[in-house]
Amino acid sequence: MPGKSRLFCALLFFCFLCEVPAHADRTRLKPGMNSFTPQQDIELGKKFATEAQQQYPLCNAPKVDAYLSKLGRRLVDHLDTFGVQYPWEFHCVNDKAINAFALPGGYVFVNRGAIEAADYEAELAAVMAHELSHVALRHGTNQATKAQYAQIGSGIAGIAGSIFGGLAGAAVSGAGQFAAGSVLLKYSRGAETQADVMGTQVLYDSGFDPRAMAAFFEKLNSAQAPPEFFSDHPNPENRVNRVHEEIQKLGGAPPDAQKDSLEFEAIKREVLALPVAAKGKPAAAAAPVAFPKPGTVRVGAPSKNYIDLNLGAAKLKYPDNWKQYGSGNNITLAPDGGVVDPGNGQAALAYGVMVSVAKLQGNPPADEDVLQAATTKLIESMQQENANMRVVRESKVVSLNGERAFSTYLSNDAPGEGQETDWLVTVVRPEGLVYFVCAAPRADYTDFSGTFSSILDSVRFNR
Ligand SMILES: [Zn+2]
Repeated sequence: MPGKSRLFCALLFFCFLCEVPAHADRTRLKPGMNSFTPQQDIELGKKFATEAQQQYPLCNAPKVDAYLSKLGRRLVDHLDTFGVQYPWEFHCVNDKAINAFALPGGYVFVNRGAIEAADYEAELAAVMAHELSHVALRHGTNQATKAQYAQIGSGIAGIAGSIFGGLAGAAVSGAGQFAAGSVLLKYSRGAETQADVMGTQVLYDSGFDPRAMAAFFEKLNSAQAPPEFFSDHPNPENRVNRVHEEIQKLGGAPPDAQKDSLEFEAIKREVLALPVAAKGKPAAAAAPVAFPKPGTVRVGAPSKNYIDLNLGAAKLKYPDNWKQYGSGNNITLAPDGGVVDPGNGQAALAYGVMVSVAKLQGNPPADEDVLQAATTKLIESMQQENANMRVVRESKVVSLNGERAFSTYLSNDAPGEGQETDWLVTVVRPEGLVYFVCAAPRADYTDFSGTFSSILDSVRFNR
């Protein structure tokens, strides 16, 4: 769910679908396309969960958090996470609005309003099962993946434009938008239906009355003021019908299914007695990630130890004292101090390697091959964004993991003072023009050139 705050934590085990299939008719769901790894879901979710915890008033009621974790874990035990182990966390937010949301990677926030609005435990479990399903189906990064592809489709110029001026900035400020809920928490109607269906299955498999999912929707629908849960989750009537349909596929609600517990009633009384907190700042006000000014952080020597990075279409290795910024088709690898803010609030690459993909559109001129034409166009569009960028060594053919590639050296104004050297390596792959930009200040370039070569030598494309 989108919207406002929330997260929860519980330690997690895997859930196994295999223990389930009493009724073969149940709807089978699986995550959609995704350019993020599950580990990136967890990293992104953790980052925004930390922000959410700073921005939203939490209940600060250990008994309530412990209860949410226990209930969440019971549901997670019956949730198919497709082999991924998420670090489930569950948090109670001191907000009377009827809402809950889960960030990628398993960080779940439940408003006190959702607990107070539940007439019995299975209704609260329904809201949570819905949220857990968004995590398992990886809806947040699936949405972000689609947004990314849409962005890449706008052509080389759009991507190259952000390369030096702030490619890392594009990736990182993109993350800031996630915090505003614009991408990671804006689910399509189809994703909401999937979360309803899987949530109903989880309720059923956990021994709760699955009809609670529909009952909670109906109650919200009949409430005077439309609760926030619905601003994030449209079309209540259709959702109720779809839940009933899934219950039929499961063979109907079991007669002994659990609706309530004494523990829930005690917790609800405790929540009702909590003082009302002042509302936190909206998430959109999240402070952007701050990068240091050029030259203020001494950039250390690259480590000789390398760690693996799987980009999906390719793998590579990079020094273990560097950090990864961005995700999907825009990855920047840089040491501390390597990504800087030149003073315009954007992030720029001073030391490090950027990997990106430009979609290829149209046909190359008759006398040029695709690699040559696309490389020329990429350099032109980079020069449009960087007035002083020039080619200092013409493109020559090299081999990158056995693929024909172009190696080009450019110079440009460094984000701080002086000039930088940019080594551009381009290769045509099924995804488009894959390009690597290895950047360092000209005076320091030789200290990094061996590391840049090692990173590029480590590239292995999926065949
Ligand atoms: Zn939802």
